[in-house]
Amino acid sequence: MNISSRRNFLKSLGGATALASFPTILNAATKGSRVIVIGGGFAGATAAKYLKHWSPDLNVTLIEPNAQYHSPILSNLVINGQKSLNDITFNYNALKNKYGVNIVTEWVQGIDGAGKTVELSSNVKLEYDRLIIAPGISFLPVPGLDFNKVPHAWQSGDQLLLLKKQLDAMPAGGTFVMTIPPAPYRCPPGPYERAALVADYLKTNKPGSKVIILDANPKIIVEEETFSHEFNVTYAGIVEYYKNIKLEAVDSDKRIAITNAGDFKADVLNVIPVHSAGKIITTSDLANHPSGRWANVSPLSYESTKTPFIHVIGDSQGTGQPKAGHIANAEAKVCADAVIRLLAGDQPYAAPMTNSACYSPLSTNTASWLTGVFGYDASTDSMKVVPGSGGASNGVSKENYKDMFTWANSLFADTFA
Ligand SMILES: Cc1cc2nc3c(=O)[nH]c(=O)nc-3n(C[C@H](O)[C@H](O)[C@H](O)COP(=O)(O)OP(=O)(O)OC[C@H]3O[C@@H](n4cnc5c(N)ncnc54)[C@H](O)[C@@H]3O)c2cc1C
Repeated sequence: MNISSRRNFLKSLGGATALASFPTILNAATKGSRVIVIGGGFAGATAAKYLKHWSPDLNVTLIEPNAQYHSPILSNLVINGQKSLNDITFNYNALKNKYGVNIVTEWVQGIDGAGKTVELSSNVKLEYDRLIIAPGISFLPVPGLDFNKVPHAWQSGDQLLLLKKQLDAMPAGGTFVMTIPPAPYRCPPGPYERAALVADYLKTNKPGSKVIILDANPKIIVEEETFSHEFNVTYAGIVEYYKNIKLEAVDSDKRIAITNAGDFKADVLNVIPVHSAGKIITTSDLANHPSGRWANVSPLSYESTKTPFIHVIGDSQGTGQPKAGHIANAEAKVCADAVIRLLAGDQPYAAPMTNSACYSPLSTNTASWLTGVFGYDASTDSMKVVPGSGGASNGVSKENYKDMFTWANSLFADTFA
């Protein structure tokens, strides 16, 4: 993607096309229908907002246990002190007051697909006509791993602050070890971004320290040239990158990563375990992807291929599109559009497109980026990369770093404001 098309892309996010309202006829046909959305992250909050924006007479309820959402996007900038947690924290006031979404601050503990109800942690049951589930990710267990001692910091909030606290307390000349799970995981460039930012922080604040990356993948899975350059040139002598390393167990008290290639002792250990869909997907028997870890859905509507009237969007869905917040926001709009059409007795739009963007800050003033555009392919009933679309930055730059905030603020506003 060239610079001018990238600028147009940044501006278009949340632009006029997306905000156009549905014709009155669809709004009337869906009046009073009940849609429940579980999870108020980039996927769920966007879906709830756009359902009400496009079809104001729908009865939309967003169920999310936390009154505030801490964004994982830009969260690595909290670790190196460039942003505070507050800077990347959002609430649901606009969804409630501006769009009329009902907000229920509780966990969903169960779903009855046949009876079309969800059960809250207070045991109250709510009925739906269509249900959208967007619970993000959960982690597969690792023997010995205690997140209170060895943070993942891959969901924002307390885990992020714990990792920052441990890094701040690390002695100069110390060792930071991080593990990267096999793909697919949330934000493909994210772990490499974190390694570079931590290296930058240690270079300035804890001279003589090391960053050891233990990657379960056979190579750096995205932006290989850019990240290799950062590890081998910009942070030469600080970063050591090892591929094909499988984490087998963790000694959380001694901060040791036990792997197929031996033990790695750390002063600060950051373990990002293998990902799976949010727990409510597996406990509700919706994880019918062959891996058993994701929910298979129709890419036209995000309706589960297992249980009708239930839609799954964001990191939990199994279409093969990247697990990332920008595309979760795009999937949410495709899903909201399809839900409104289905409630009105119509069919989902037959040619949906989604797009993805990840910006990676790699020092206090440089960043890289990666984008992709996906279109529906009827012959395979799947989302495929549109030939010639997307791309990656040519290395890092200060301009990318500035663009990153334009992009992120636009995404945050399109989701929560
Ligand atoms: C360091 C880092 C950098 C990143 N950078 C980028 C980037 O540059 N670009 C990008 O596009 N993406 C990026 N991402 C990825 C992005 O943050 C995730 O892909 C995105 O948050 C997924 O959105 P989601 O709505 O599916 O899940 P989440 O944001 O995790 O939201 C899920 C919500 O569901 C709620 N929930 C879960 N279970 C239940 C339940 N049973 N009942 C009620 N509520 C429930 C949770 O409380 C949570 O609020 C980054 C991630 C990290 C860690």
